Amino acid sequence: MDSIFDQKPIRNPEIKRTQLFINNEYVDCVSGKTIEIFNPATEETICWVQEGDKVDVDKAVEAARTAMKRNSPWRKMNPANRGKILAKLADIIERDSALIASVEVTDNGKPFQSALLDISMGISWFRYYGGYCDKIEGRTLAMEDGKMGFTKYDPVGVVGAITPWNFPFMIACIKLVQSLCTGNAVVLKPSELAPLTTLMFGDMVIEAGLPPGVVNIIPGFGPTAGAAITEHPDINLVTFTGSTEVGHIIQTASGTSNLKRVVLELGGKSAFIVGKTADIEKVVQIAQDACFVNSGQTCVALTRTFVHEDIYDEFVRKSADLAKKTRDKVGDPFKEGILYGPQIDQTQTDKIMDLIESGKKEGAKLECGGKRLNDKGFFIEPTVFSNVQDDMRIAKEEIFGPVQPIIKFSSIDEAIDRANSSIYGLAASVFTNDLSEALYAANALESGQVWVNDIMAAAPCTPFGGYKQSGIGRELGWEGLLGYMEVKTIIIKI
Ligand code: ADP
Repeated sequence: MDSIFDQKPIRNPEIKRTQLFINNEYVDCVSGKTIEIFNPATEETICWVQEGDKVDVDKAVEAARTAMKRNSPWRKMNPANRGKILAKLADIIERDSALIASVEVTDNGKPFQSALLDISMGISWFRYYGGYCDKIEGRTLAMEDGKMGFTKYDPVGVVGAITPWNFPFMIACIKLVQSLCTGNAVVLKPSELAPLTTLMFGDMVIEAGLPPGVVNIIPGFGPTAGAAITEHPDINLVTFTGSTEVGHIIQTASGTSNLKRVVLELGGKSAFIVGKTADIEKVVQIAQDACFVNSGQTCVALTRTFVHEDIYDEFVRKSADLAKKTRDKVGDPFKEGILYGPQIDQTQTDKIMDLIESGKKEGAKLECGGKRLNDKGFFIEPTVFSNVQDDMRIAKEEIFGPVQPIIKFSSIDEAIDRANSSIYGLAASVFTNDLSEALYAANALESGQVWVNDIMAAAPCTPFGGYKQSGIGRELGWEGLLGYMEVKTIIIKI
């Protein structure tokens, strides 16, 4: 295969895995309950998935604990061999990528090429972090005469991973790759809204040769299975990607249970700043891509478009023209040329429609869009608002839909201060041809990622995470791996 992107989608792919995965076996949940899984593009039922709960989480944690026992095959495994397993997982994912992507399209509604893009990132991480396993090294410390000291990294133990529905496979890869690279065992709970590609991991980890109990997957709801993970006394770290609201709950649960470590990747209201020297023709398109990516269902979407007053009117006009054209590219995610699929479900769609109404009521100007599309499926028109003020809900709250609020500014300092006046601090982009303006802004913006003349740029080596209420800790990069390990200091008297 030259490139995974040349593959063709499989409509109505067979859904083979709907059970929990514990100790390298697919099993039913104890209660016998199931969760109905919908296709958001058609609103039809795809299948029923076993509904995990506390008792199932307990079993999974026990399996993971056993896998982490001193002298277990996983604990004794040479790091280079751990790396080979990760590399093998990359090969398996690559081989099966057309099927995984097709299941993702059916379950989540994102276009096939977007699903492949997510998968390609997963593959690159498994390869990169496979190579990292035998390169995790401590330091020799500068001790007084007669003593010698060094540091060593240990796995935290059992990782509880809770993932969202917007990038189901990709975020499962992030959590798994870091847990495994650093030698942990995992209990992973995918979102109840899109668990199907995560459940496929069971077959993959068996084929790759992971010992039983190292990876366990428990589909279930947040307040039941999710809470059982966050409150569990035998889980050492919860790594979570999702809403800031649930992030608060998770940190509290850690505090009231066993002070487990938390890595939280939460919401954002990221700024896209367009300086007056920017190339309007190009930037209009990029600003909209950055806002509408994954139908707006992206924590790192750049959803406050700040535009310099000198170019504001032209920018708004061109953005509205573009969004009207993009309307034709919203639809059946299996169809070639479709850029944006549906929102994930009715609840999210209602929330977005409510925010669009609030924008109109609070005095923003609806330039285009603002309505539902198609009879079936949770589709919304690409929507552009101008005359947006900072205190409007559409400028403050995470919309998680295809809605672009365009905001006017008159100086770079003002844009930076307004960009920073948010409870979030996940990302920001600055578009300018003035180098010192770019560096000035990059330095002053309070966010975990700053891109200059680019959006959403990342590589396997780049750490990702948020300032303020956008999160705690980082994912990926060396900084990400540190969150999945304990540092041990060993001192020897000579
Ligand atoms: P979103 O994906 O829309 O940002 P959430 O933050 O609600 O939504 O969900 C992300 C993940 O968190 C999902 O897997 C969900 O089941 C889980 N979750 C929701 N509520 C809780 C909770 N109280 N405790 C633990 N996990 C939860």
